[in-house]
Amino acid sequence: MTEKNTVRFQAEIVNGKCPTCSEYTMLVGITREFYRCLTCGGDLQQHINGKISYLPVVNPPKGTKPYVKEWPR
Ligand SMILES: [Zn+2]
Repeated sequence: MTEKNTVRFQAEIVNGKCPTCSEYTMLVGITREFYRCLTCGGDLQQHINGKISYLPVVNPPKGTKPYVKEWPR
């Protein structure tokens, strides 16, 4: 019974203020830097420089389309 080879994804949940919806809510850690707001679903990037602050993610993660470039006519 060895589980030491099992890497379990552990989601980190922190409390913070979402800059997108301006709500104090829970933020789920996607990676060490990126968090997702449980209220509005917006992705945030964590910045640590003396204090922890969250900024909306300008560049969406891979696999998501930022917007439709060519609008069909
Ligand atoms: Zn939010």
